[in-house]
Amino acid sequence: MNAMSRHPEPTIFERIVAREIPADVVFESDRVIAIRDINPQAPVHLLVIPKTAIYRNITELGAGDPALLAEVVAVAGQLAEEHTGGEYRLVFNQGERAGQTVFHVHAHVLGSAPGTEGLAEGTLGNL
Ligand code: 5GP
Repeated sequence: MNAMSRHPEPTIFERIVAREIPADVVFESDRVIAIRDINPQAPVHLLVIPKTAIYRNITELGAGDPALLAEVVAVAGQLAEEHTGGEYRLVFNQGERAGQTVFHVHAHVLGSAPGTEGLAEGTLGNL
């Protein structure tokens, strides 16, 4: 097991952060990276990912490093301003039965470009 990780195998996001796997990176800071989702569920579908692999989900991140969670939310808001005009949906899936497939915490930023059709009401982006 990697000393920085609780996972026996690095997740796909750990490998993207390490640049072992390519991704369409839209933002990067010391502690956070944001990429376009490879299988978008909305016209704009970005993932905001803390670089550390130690938090598997939003609950662990919120308890373990609230400042980092606040940074994830701030980055999501900045990117949404840029890509959707600031109207967007922010989703964290937690657990397999909620649709989580990658156990390295990440926020989904879902929306559409200003002047185009918005997200449907009453859905959560078909995640
Ligand atoms: P979850 O289902 O865990 O909430 O979200 C994982 C997301 O990661 C999914 O929306 C999926 O499409 C996306 N994803 C999985 N593998 C890759 C990849 O290799 N590159 C990118 N850019 N996104 C990925």
